[in-house]
Parts: sequence; structure tokens; C-alpha cells
Amino acid sequence: MKYKIVNINKTGERSVLIIYTGGTFGMIQDASGALMPFNFGKVVDRVPELRQLDIRLTVISFPKPLDSSNILIQDWKDMAYIIEENYEQYDAFVILHGTDTMAYSASMLSYMLDGLNKPVIFTGAQMPIGSIRSDARENLIAALEIASAHNEGNPIISEVCVYFNYMLLRGSRSQKLRSSTFAAFESENYPVLAEAGIEIEFNYSALKPFVGDSKLTVKNHLDPNVTILKIFPGITEHAVKAILSDKKIKGVVLESFGSGNTMKFDWFLNCLKEAIKEGKIILNVSQCIGGEVEQGKYETSKELNKIGVLSGGDITTEAAVTKMMFLLGSGEKGDRLKHRLTHSIAGEMDQVWE
Ligand code: ASP
Repeated sequence: MKYKIVNINKTGERSVLIIYTGGTFGMIQDASGALMPFNFGKVVDRVPELRQLDIRLTVISFPKPLDSSNILIQDWKDMAYIIEENYEQYDAFVILHGTDTMAYSASMLSYMLDGLNKPVIFTGAQMPIGSIRSDARENLIAALEIASAHNEGNPIISEVCVYFNYMLLRGSRSQKLRSSTFAAFESENYPVLAEAGIEIEFNYSALKPFVGDSKLTVKNHLDPNVTILKIFPGITEHAVKAILSDKKIKGVVLESFGSGNTMKFDWFLNCLKEAIKEGKIILNVSQCIGGEVEQGKYETSKELNKIGVLSGGDITTEAAVTKMMFLLGSGEKGDRLKHRLTHSIAGEMDQVWE
């Protein structure tokens, strides 16, 4: 792929590579008034402050900026590849990305970038940089400041994050919850990593610890054969079967009610049992934004334990579906696959880093 590279600032204490993938951040209106992405060159003209930052700044652009609704597995591989290729030359990475699927990309990159010990910060905007009230400038400048923050030369952040609307969130915990306010993202089940006020206040106890001697390994085998089954009252056997009986599907994220409850009708449990018998992995996540799956707490979820549905704990759907693609792609199988699905690999559930 041919990337466009622009150097913005050649002097400064720290160096940051901005990876511009597209999104509303850099969109303009076409003749019909619809928003579409444009090239990053023009963005710098809109944010002259970038030249005043004490950061060496380079921008690398996707050849064709994307609306993030069109993001594909190959785009995640491309982002990871750019980071891998430039890992030694830069202190940090900021990825400009559309908000619609940012939480999926941030989750996936947090799995793919194994051994990461530099900041990778996703940000974007709800309004294009050309709009007078746009949130793009603030989001980009604060993301760059956070990315370049360090303690005696070591980065304060050494994980994949989302920065949006004055808050830094763990990438694998983030979710886009709002489409019409600037406060688009939350991480309901994990504390905010930093808040940008007059000062940037880091929540040190919530950060992934910096590991000086870790080596980055990009793991880019991803398996797309996963799906999501979101249940609702009145869902038919026909609809459930249509999803669970597909021969190619290997992993299913089951979006259940409350703390992991599903209908306990025989036909429903039989569909799950049949799918598991065929070798499919089913991971139970809650439709609620906050809280966690506790299989067995209610009669309606006790049966799930028995038939081999795995509990996703407090993982988000975004982190769950990308984790399945990642682990199935890595060739994990059997008990090890089950163990890794139900334990943290990138801070996406519980609070354990393995
Ligand atoms: N549709 C846009 C995108 O995700 C929305 C945004 O950037 O806010 O690329």
C-alpha cells in the first residue's frame, strides 16, 4: 500500500507518528451535502498549533481515508504494520479514526500489538475540523500531549487507548455510546485513565504498568468467522437457528440480558447445545453497558454453565468479538482457547494483565 507521509515538526523533545485513517475528523461536504473524508494535508492548515508543539510530528495517511463504517480486517493489519515498521523511530503513535468503529479498532489493536510499551492513542471527532465548533482540534492536541507525556524518559502510557472529550480511556474497554454529543465514548467497567483539564491528570493506579524490556510482536492472523447473537423477548427459533447453524461460523458472542440471563426455553438451550456440540465457541456478554455476566446467579443463566457457554464477565461486545477473531486467528483451540477467552489478555476484562 502507498502511504502519504508529511513531516510537520522536525524539532521537539519527543516524537509522535500520527496515522490518519479518515473519519469525520477530516471530512468535508460533497455537492449533495453528505460528509466524506479528505486528505490530511489540509488538516494541518486548520490546526496551525501543531507546529508550535514541542513534539517532532510526522503524519502518515491511508491512501484513501475511510469512513470507519467501512473498516475491514485488512485495515487493522495495516495500522499494526505501520506501527511495527515505525516502532523504533517514534516515541508514540496517535491514530486518527472515525468514531463509529473506533472501539472495535482500539480493542483489536490492543490484542494485535503484543508486548507494546509505547502509547497508541486513538482519537477522532464528532464534527469535522473545518466546522467552527469542531471538537477535532482539542481532541488531537490533547491526544498528542498525552502521547508525548513521560516520566524520566519512559512513557506514562504504554497501552492502546481512546482519547475523546477530555477523557483518556483504555481502548479495549471503550464504547461509543452517543452519536450526537461530544461525550461520545465511555468505559463503564473501567476507570478513566486520565482527564484533560488545565493539567492532564493521570490515574496512575489504573494504567497498564510500563515494562522497559518488552518487545513488540505484531500478531496479525485474524479469523473473520465470528458473529453476534443479540437476544430479545419474542426472538424466534428460526432466527436463532439462522445464526447458530451456519457451518463457517466458529465463534458466537451471545448478547444476553442483565447479568447474563437468557430465555430458558428448551428450543433455545437446544440450539446453543447443538452449536457447542458442533465445535462452536459461545461467549456470553451482557447487553447492559455496565456490570458483568454472572452465569448461575439466576435460574435463567444456570443452564448456560452446564451446556458449556463461556462467561465473558465484564467485557464489552466490541472487545469480545475482536478477541474471538484474534484468538481463533492465532490458532487457539480447546481448553486454552476457553481459558484465554475468559481471562484478560489486554486489560479488556477483570483487571489482570497476563
Ligand atoms: N461515520 C464516521 C466514521 O466513523 C463518524 C465519525 O467519524 O465520527 O468514520
